[in-house]
Amino acid sequence: GSTVGIVGGGQLGRMSAVAAARLGFHAHILTPQADCPAAEVAHSLTVGAYDDDEALRRFADCVDVITFEFENVSAAGLKTLESLKPVRPSGSILAVSQDRIAEKSRLDAMGVAIAPWRNVASPADLAMALEALDYRCILKTTRFGYDGKGQFRVSAREDAAALEADLPYPMVAEGIVDFEREVSVMIARGVHGDVQCFDVTENQHRDGILDISLAPAHIMPELADHARQLAVSIAEGLDMVGLMGVEMFVAADGRLLVNEIAPRPHNSGHWTMNACLVDQFEMHIRAVVGLPLLPPIRHSDAVMKNLIGPQDMALCDTILKTPGQALHLYGKADARPGRKMGHVNMIFPKGALPGPFGLADALGVLAPASLSSK
Ligand code: ATP
Ligand code: MG
Ligand code: MG
Repeated sequence: GSTVGIVGGGQLGRMSAVAAARLGFHAHILTPQADCPAAEVAHSLTVGAYDDDEALRRFADCVDVITFEFENVSAAGLKTLESLKPVRPSGSILAVSQDRIAEKSRLDAMGVAIAPWRNVASPADLAMALEALDYRCILKTTRFGYDGKGQFRVSAREDAAALEADLPYPMVAEGIVDFEREVSVMIARGVHGDVQCFDVTENQHRDGILDISLAPAHIMPELADHARQLAVSIAEGLDMVGLMGVEMFVAADGRLLVNEIAPRPHNSGHWTMNACLVDQFEMHIRAVVGLPLLPPIRHSDAVMKNLIGPQDMALCDTILKTPGQALHLYGKADARPGRKMGHVNMIFPKGALPGPFGLADALGVLAPASLSSK
């Protein structure tokens, strides 16, 4: 078999490597840290920094095709990789997803509805943006933000006064969306432009971090079709080859607004590992190596719960004894608060996914306090 090069050794790289091995490919990981989550399942590693040109060349030498789980390779690094081997998704798509200004500009240009936003590069820009967005906005760093890090929420004029004098510019200001729910679509696009979408996922966040995903989302079939169409049009507009997660808000008026795109497997697609014949990681590998993209038939309903920090790790013993629950740990030794350590998929017969009021009961010990109090 040939070798798939994966940039990044975190949990997404680990689960992609397992999928590659299952399909008969070698997974070769580029990671700055030899003892990363992907290391214990990968075929081989290049240990080196993501922006070390020599390490990128050594890595590219070992592989037939290159993909990512880590998105923040520099423009120069991406150029090096693309000069050596096929890179899927392409470096230009990564460049768009790395930078919220590039991402929003591109979505605007494609006619995709997003929250109103302003470029905030200075205190003067900030004053104008706050005024334009009616003092209801979220300030986000343009680069390197994840799990809600690097974000400041302004809900009223008073909050603006309390903002740090020294914000981490450059930033964007986004109007707050009064969403009814958050959903996402995992979409794969093959080398011949063929596409497959997973069923729409419904996502609940806690402290800026994804907590729970439900599949299928509790939305009308027409809206689900619309969400998938939107994901397809973005993937086609970017001429993407690979797998991408598209995060969306369902606004109070029922409109879909795109929040952000992630051209790689996505945390909100982890439920597919136990509820679909072909999961998002297999689909990712299939797209990247040029295999046919099989329809991602969903045979079950599912709830995915992230296991975050030491508290959630304490639930593992119970999960391991509970029928209908599939544990996925990432092999991280150090359970720091806020760190994603693993996830659990709870599987239900099709049509038996608990509704909003049955969810806390169905989750049992896994129900977050925010749910049980509802
Ligand atoms: P990740 O990449 O891990 O998904 P991130 O740091 O890029 O996270 P966002 O996805 O931009 O962060 O925001 C995190 C969460 O904050 C969103 O899923 C949503 O719950 C909330 N949020 C972000 N932007 C807005 C907005 N404009 N209006 C309302 N809520 C928002
Ligand atoms: Mg993000
Ligand atoms: Mg997000």
